[in-house]
Amino acid sequence: MMRYFAVTFIFYIIIVNCHRSGRTRKNVTIIGLFHPEELQEQTAFRIAVERVNLIILNDTTILPHVEEVSANDSFNISKRVCNILAEKGTNAVGIFGPRAETAIGIVKSISDYYEIPHIETRWETTTRKNKMAINLYPESKLLAQALMDTIRDMDWKSFTVVYEKDEGIVRLQELLKSHDGLAKGAGQTPFTIVQLGEDPDHRPLWKKIKTSGETHIVLDCSADKIVSILRQAKAVGMMGDYNSYVVTSLDAHTIDFEEFKFGQTNITALRMLDPSSAILQKAVQDWIFDEMNHNRTASVTSNNLKIQSALMYDAVHLFAEAWIKLGSLYTTPVPIDCYSKEGVQKSIIKISNGFRLLNFMKLMQSEGMSGKMAFDNSGLRNYFSIEILQLIDKGFKKLGSWDPKNGISYTRTTSEMAGEQLQNIKNKTFIITSRIGRPYLDFKKGEGLKGNDRFEGYSLDLIEEIAQELGFTYIFSLVPDGQYGSLDKKTGQWNGLIRELQERRADLAICDLTITYDRRSAVDFTMPFMTLGISILFSKPVKQPPEMFSFFKPLSFDVWVYMVTAYLGVSLLLYFLSRCSPFEWENPHPCNPDPKELELTFTLQNCLWFSIGSLMAQGSDLLPKAVSTRLVAGMWWFFTLIMISSYTANLAAFLTMERMDAPITGVDDLVNQNKIKYGLLRGGSTANFFRDSNVSIYQRMWSTMESSQPSVFVKSNDEGVERVQKGKRQYAYFMESTSLEYQMERKCDLEMVGGLLDSKGYGIAMPFDSPYRTAISGAVLKMQESGKLQQLKTKWWKLMHGGGQCDKRNEATPSNELGLANVGGVFLLLIYGCSIAFLVSLLEFLWNVRKVAVQERITPAEAFLLELKFVLLCHGTTKPLRKPREPSIRGSFMKLDIINKK
Ligand code: GLU
Repeated sequence: MMRYFAVTFIFYIIIVNCHRSGRTRKNVTIIGLFHPEELQEQTAFRIAVERVNLIILNDTTILPHVEEVSANDSFNISKRVCNILAEKGTNAVGIFGPRAETAIGIVKSISDYYEIPHIETRWETTTRKNKMAINLYPESKLLAQALMDTIRDMDWKSFTVVYEKDEGIVRLQELLKSHDGLAKGAGQTPFTIVQLGEDPDHRPLWKKIKTSGETHIVLDCSADKIVSILRQAKAVGMMGDYNSYVVTSLDAHTIDFEEFKFGQTNITALRMLDPSSAILQKAVQDWIFDEMNHNRTASVTSNNLKIQSALMYDAVHLFAEAWIKLGSLYTTPVPIDCYSKEGVQKSIIKISNGFRLLNFMKLMQSEGMSGKMAFDNSGLRNYFSIEILQLIDKGFKKLGSWDPKNGISYTRTTSEMAGEQLQNIKNKTFIITSRIGRPYLDFKKGEGLKGNDRFEGYSLDLIEEIAQELGFTYIFSLVPDGQYGSLDKKTGQWNGLIRELQERRADLAICDLTITYDRRSAVDFTMPFMTLGISILFSKPVKQPPEMFSFFKPLSFDVWVYMVTAYLGVSLLLYFLSRCSPFEWENPHPCNPDPKELELTFTLQNCLWFSIGSLMAQGSDLLPKAVSTRLVAGMWWFFTLIMISSYTANLAAFLTMERMDAPITGVDDLVNQNKIKYGLLRGGSTANFFRDSNVSIYQRMWSTMESSQPSVFVKSNDEGVERVQKGKRQYAYFMESTSLEYQMERKCDLEMVGGLLDSKGYGIAMPFDSPYRTAISGAVLKMQESGKLQQLKTKWWKLMHGGGQCDKRNEATPSNELGLANVGGVFLLLIYGCSIAFLVSLLEFLWNVRKVAVQERITPAEAFLLELKFVLLCHGTTKPLRKPREPSIRGSFMKLDIINKK
């Protein structure tokens, strides 16, 4: 800046001195071609010439020749330019303008032919190259790049270009080309192009755009039409929170957007002029000063200066700076006669240095009102800086800037942007769409409830927490069709909650809405607030009461049979081996060293007694003596050791276990049978998972489900649960684990079978590119970190509406206690055994009665009473020996026997 003022000051001194010294100044003319309406540009041209004459030029005075030309009459333009060139003493050395595409061709031809530098300030749409032209307007490809970068930065996947004039679409072709490639790469519809018609009523057009669902608009029209066009967009509801506009006109900042400032529509504009630039402010001051000198009121300010005026001002300065360096090489131009051959030849000699002057301009890197500039070989401006502006309640605010070297650089920090978003969200009333489904949302019990008070549930609590955090209000409304949202592939239309958001009837959708790839292409989601997966809901097996004789279960029937066989076999073997072995024959009277006969201890009865004693781990008072019998006894003991240990180990499990027959343990079991039907919720993400899966097992399951009659699909999770409960283990329901847990907390006859088939999350959905996404996502994240989400889940899953019932039931019956049902059979066996023993003892008693009756020669009844009396006396451990009246051999044997025993 200092340099600029210093240079200006030095030039000013030189010029003043020249004037004082009376040196003659060469007069040259520059022609300015303007449309009659381009008044500000004309003034800028004149003022710039005055300034350069006064400050920059020392031996030349530039005379501005302003010609007002019509855009469509190129013949008239050529005539007027030629007349000026032919005028004696005019000395035309440069042509500025015109701006109209239709008028430029003839001027370019003349300037090329006579090598007169042609300085342009217009958006060049053609690739036509002229050797004598230099254009201060940003090169169209680079300008398109700036637009493209801005749009890309806003993350627009698609947009509609609304343009006014045909040249608009030519100007934007670079933008469209590059976005096309990008969007197609991502599999999206790139853009739609719509032209504003001649009819000033553009509302039907905006309505069409609205119906298409597009919310991103690139508006290409002249600055003075922007407000009226946006007003019509507003009239059809295209200026809501979710609409975003990029205005391509570089003069948008000069327009009063007052009526749109307080709307929530995102309006982005690009501006080349930086009102805070010292050069621009100085130029505007000079401008105002100059106008005042001419007794004119200047309405120009650094904020309402049009780009064309600034470029014209810069163009004159650029020319003047080049003239200082090379102007002396110019021989004094003489009139050019465009229409005579002679004139043509003369002119070629006369303005031969025009080409050098223009090339010099191309090489110059100067700074003007429109910022720094540099040009390529074709004279196109390849360096400029653009400011990206956003309309806020206080007017346009600079978001960042763009230049060809660095691309976009933002001037706002992320926290500033977040702060602004938060500010916007406050005072907003969100329409929240949802559907009834416990525990997420349900009608509250009670009468006369209104508004949000009608509902209760997890979703309501969740949004209440977020609303408190961010300071907004909300209204809950139910989705008319009660659907979550699925895409009809034939019509390409969504239904349910997703459609409500797409059609902007709601701002947020909250319920158990799963984040899926398809839905993500239609709406935006916040961070997931719950994670889950698909699982199988099935009814628990009905518990079988423990069996009375379950103590037989540890060993299979076969083993019991083998055991009995082994027992009998070993007892017999022992008996035979004892008989064979001399060591098992014993002296019946040990006091008699010379016995007449030997007695076998291991009689068949004793063998059976010995074996059973060992088997029951009780032992017996009989012990084998021979090696062979001991070997058999050893092996039998080993056998019983193993068998009894195995039996004992298994016994506990069999006594405590309640029989559970599990016909399915996961999807593999389901797919391989056709007895148990399985189904899912129609139109939900679970159905889509099976329908779109590439896994063969899921594909098979989907086709089975589709072909099942009656249908296995249900309309709501509650219906699915009811079907499982009533299905007597003949219907399994695929359900999301979160909802499944909720049901299992309340319905203890239900269980989850197998693991999770996938992993996903529920998110809060909102229209595409919603400006509130970051803020709401942040609030969800905060709740997750603070444990609030978990608290809410515990509240609605375990505490409210009968949750946690099944936990209590499990606690109430400790599983490790054995009841009578478990061990009743053992008691029964004991009773049976004792009863049999009693019967046997009765038989023995009767047998003895019979014997006593014979011996005592009394009647059996008398003998019975006698013996019974003795038994019932219950005291005395000795019993008199009954003597037979007629001693018999048998009787004496008995007597002897008793004596011996004594
Ligand atoms: N949460 C699912 C959805 O958003 C609905 C339930 C389901 O499909 O199991 O579509």
